[in-house]
Amino acid sequence: MVPHLVPRWPVCLFRWRAACTLGACVPQSAWARASRTPGPGSPRGAVGTSPLVRRGGSSSSSRAPEVMLTRERYPVQRLPFSVVSEEDLAAFERITPGRVVTDPEELEASNVDWLRTVRGCSKVLLKPQTTEEVSHILRYCHERNLAVNPQGGNTGMVGGSVPVFDEIILSTALMNQVISFHGVSGILVCQAGCILEELSRYVEERDFIMPLDLGAKGSCHIGGNVATNAGGLRFLRYGSLHGTVLGLEVVCPAPPPQVCTLLHPQVLADGTVLNCLTSLRKDNTGYDLKQLFIGSEGTLGVITAVSILCPPKPRAVNVAFLGCPGFAEVLQTFSTCKGMLGEILSAFEFMDAECMQLVGHHLGLVSPVQESPFYVLIETSGSRAGHDAEKLSSFLEHVLDFGLVTDGTLATDQRRVKMLWALRERITEALSRDGCVYKYDISLPVERLYDLVSDLRARLGPQAKHVVGYGHLGDGNLHLNVTAEAFSASLLGALEPYVYEWTAGQQGSVSAEHGLGFKKKDVLSYSKPPAALQLMQQLKALLDPKGILNPYKTLPARA
Ligand SMILES: Cc1cc2nc3c(=O)[nH]c(=O)nc-3n(C[C@H](O)[C@H](O)[C@H](O)COP(=O)(O)OP(=O)(O)OC[C@H]3O[C@@H](n4cnc5c(N)ncnc54)[C@H](O)[C@@H]3O)c2cc1C
Repeated sequence: MVPHLVPRWPVCLFRWRAACTLGACVPQSAWARASRTPGPGSPRGAVGTSPLVRRGGSSSSSRAPEVMLTRERYPVQRLPFSVVSEEDLAAFERITPGRVVTDPEELEASNVDWLRTVRGCSKVLLKPQTTEEVSHILRYCHERNLAVNPQGGNTGMVGGSVPVFDEIILSTALMNQVISFHGVSGILVCQAGCILEELSRYVEERDFIMPLDLGAKGSCHIGGNVATNAGGLRFLRYGSLHGTVLGLEVVCPAPPPQVCTLLHPQVLADGTVLNCLTSLRKDNTGYDLKQLFIGSEGTLGVITAVSILCPPKPRAVNVAFLGCPGFAEVLQTFSTCKGMLGEILSAFEFMDAECMQLVGHHLGLVSPVQESPFYVLIETSGSRAGHDAEKLSSFLEHVLDFGLVTDGTLATDQRRVKMLWALRERITEALSRDGCVYKYDISLPVERLYDLVSDLRARLGPQAKHVVGYGHLGDGNLHLNVTAEAFSASLLGALEPYVYEWTAGQQGSVSAEHGLGFKKKDVLSYSKPPAALQLMQQLKALLDPKGILNPYKTLPARA
């Protein structure tokens, strides 16, 4: 049990208040501990928030040299699509001149997922720059019965972003232009291949922020975010992309003509462009078709442009990183936080002690607070620094007095805020360096969020290297990860279907925010009734009658 440091907080808080006026950010008592945290320039000081500007970073290159082909590891049969011929390559060269990649070395990175767990064997990658080019590609592939795998930043967690067999990879990497930004409404319209971090920078220069943020921001594309309905770190405050995305432009392989005629007739020369790229906050004209594509994981259409509502940039951001003696205290801290910080609360994340050990061991990050069984990261975003600081101080005094928190540190300046966030954001990266990772991303009633982690630790015993739990507690979203030295069928057998049955038993969701992709498509029925599944199959058949778009993904194969 971690010692209860009752007398320290009031002192910290006074010092913190004083320090704030001078632009400092961490209470003195925490500075003493944080001095173990390396600063910039020190050998272990790399705590930036964007470890993924280059895909996978060193984490992938330093591990197993070769990822097993998906078709060898999993029992999956190639569907009877055509095989890309020389004539097809010539046709693609006409559509995207100089942007047809067939070099095996260049293709390698796009055939393997970020986690290095699945690998396709595509022989061609296309890099369109415009919607028209995407439209021509899909029309051609539809006619030729060629399968296509849309790909954004390739940071997906469920094997949806890479081919299973030889699907053509359609990358949005060169579709990276901002189309418009309105300084009054905060509405951003951009192409789908814009990198999230670059968009964040763009809107921040204009006093706005993106409504979503995630650890993969340095690589993931906004189109990929929409296609996966990514949740991330700002979900608690700004909600789902189902609310913040105002419009989409999507290319379908062959949308039925009756759908097209409702939309912009001028683009129908291509027969495939669904232009629902409005910038209206309110629009109740018929069915909200864009919602179908949010979270459709590239199985219904290729998203080519996004219109999204950006909130104003908060003037005051505070991050508190706290140690809690148990999960019950984490939950009570959350309830207290909602009650006392209410309108300024923008994130409530948690991680267990094993996560902290992993970020320390693999990434050299050092905990700024005393070792604790659990840690929470609380972010507030508001418009008046003094007001927010006062509220935060009362909250911290309260949680300390009641023994909910045993140690903590605060940050208000950007550099320290980023350092604290890195501890939480880089867990995924640390896990990927720990060996073979079995990942589960589930929604559960918040009171039961950690039970499954404890349960699995007991169930798996020494079979697992680490069983860890962390995630977006404020959204009831647990990231449950199990690591082992190497892939083991018996460990997988101990995990599945156990984890899914356990989750279904709590009326939870087997995929909170990562989607189903290739790896989770067969567990959809744990969270959706047969009638919903059937309707999904019918929608897929309607929009993609030949099933060429991202086959083997999201929906279970038909019996
Ligand atoms: C370190 C790290 C942290 C992460 N944190 C989070 C998190 O907090 N929350 C979260 O939700 N996810 C998280 N993820 C998962 C991942 O980053 C998200 O799913 C992200 O939205 C994927 O975007 P992408 O551009 O990389 O898409 P990709 O990985 O390239 O593709 C993902 C899926 O979307 C489809 N797709 C991509 N672009 C398009 C398009 N233009 N049109 C149609 N379909 C398309 C692909 O076919 C695939 O099925 C994290 C990943 C990493 C590596």
